[in-house]
Amino acid sequence: MCQAWLESTRCAFGPDCKFAHGETELRPTKLPIRNTLKYKTKLCDKYTTTGICPYGSRCLFIHPDPRSTAFYRQTAVSKFFLK
Ligand SMILES: [Zn+2]
Ligand SMILES: [Zn+2]
Repeated sequence: MCQAWLESTRCAFGPDCKFAHGETELRPTKLPIRNTLKYKTKLCDKYTTTGICPYGSRCLFIHPDPRSTAFYRQTAVSKFFLK
């Protein structure tokens, strides 16, 4: 905990301070941001254009299930698969 912050709730280092400012900062945020940021947030170009992806289930992109019509109604991909 930052001593300067404890005494005056002010600190010259601000957010760059190496000590925690307040209770919320003491709790480590253990979100694997690096892995979740781009993981399966985007449709796989290869899969949606060719229907085949060499990475299979390990692919970092979404391989939509052709049977999940609910999903397809919400995506532009539906035009490709349902035409
Ligand atoms: Zn500080
Ligand atoms: Zn893929």
